[in-house]
Amino acid sequence: MPAPFPTDWSRALVVAAHPDDVEYGVAAAVAVWTAAGKEVRYLLATRGEAGIAGVPPAEAGPLREEEERRSAAVVGVAEVEFLDHRDGTLVEGPGLRADLAAAIRRHRPDLVVTLHGGDTWTTPDVTPAAWNSADHRALSRSVLDAVADAANEWIFPDLPGEPWSGTQYVAVQTIGEPPHAVDVADGVEAAVASLTEHRRYLEVLDPGTPVEEQARRVVDQATLTEDGARRVGFRLFWG
Ligand SMILES: [Zn+2]
Repeated sequence: MPAPFPTDWSRALVVAAHPDDVEYGVAAAVAVWTAAGKEVRYLLATRGEAGIAGVPPAEAGPLREEEERRSAAVVGVAEVEFLDHRDGTLVEGPGLRADLAAAIRRHRPDLVVTLHGGDTWTTPDVTPAAWNSADHRALSRSVLDAVADAANEWIFPDLPGEPWSGTQYVAVQTIGEPPHAVDVADGVEAAVASLTEHRRYLEVLDPGTPVEEQARRVVDQATLTEDGARRVGFRLFWG
C-alpha cells in the first residue's frame, strides 16, 4: 500500500506542459485538496496550440487556454498562468528552468506538483510501450531543477523575484505502484467534469464517443486501482 500523501502544506503549484495534462488524473487529487481548504494554482508551459488536428495553432491556443481555465475552475483552481513556450518543442535546460524558477518565485508554493516525465507511459516490462512526449519529458525534469533554481540567487542572477526556498516537497505523478498516494474517491466526479471542459479537444480526438464518456473513461483509467479504491500516485522529492 502506498503511504499517505503529506498534508503539512497550504499552497500548491501544479506545473504541466499542456492544457488537459492535469485533467488526465491529477485533477482528482486537486479537487480533494481544494475541498480540504488547500490553495492550488496551475502553471502551464505552453497553450497546447499544436494539439488539435485540423485546427491551426493561432486558433487552438486561445481556445485551449480558455478550456484549461474552465477545467481549473471546476476543481477549485482560480489562478492559471501560461508561460508561452511553443507547444511541442520544450527543451530540458536553462531556458525552461529559468522561466519555471521565476514562476515559482511569483507563486511561492510550499508544494510543487508535476506530471509523469518518464520515457514511457507504461512500466518497463511492457512492450510495445507508449512513448511519453518530448514536452512531458523535458518539463517534468526541468520542474525538479527549477525548484532549486528558484531558491538560488546565483544560478540565474537576473531572475526576477526574491529567491524562494519555501518549497517543502515536489510531487511527481507516477505510473505503476506509487510510493505515495492521494485517496481521490471524493474527487472523481469533479475530475470528470473538469476534463469534460476540454470539449473541443476531446471532440476532435475521438469524434465517435461523447465527451462525457471519454472523460469518465480517462479518469477511471487514471484513478481506479486493483482493489477498487481510487488513488492518484506520486513520488515525492524534497524541495
Ligand atoms: Zn501533454
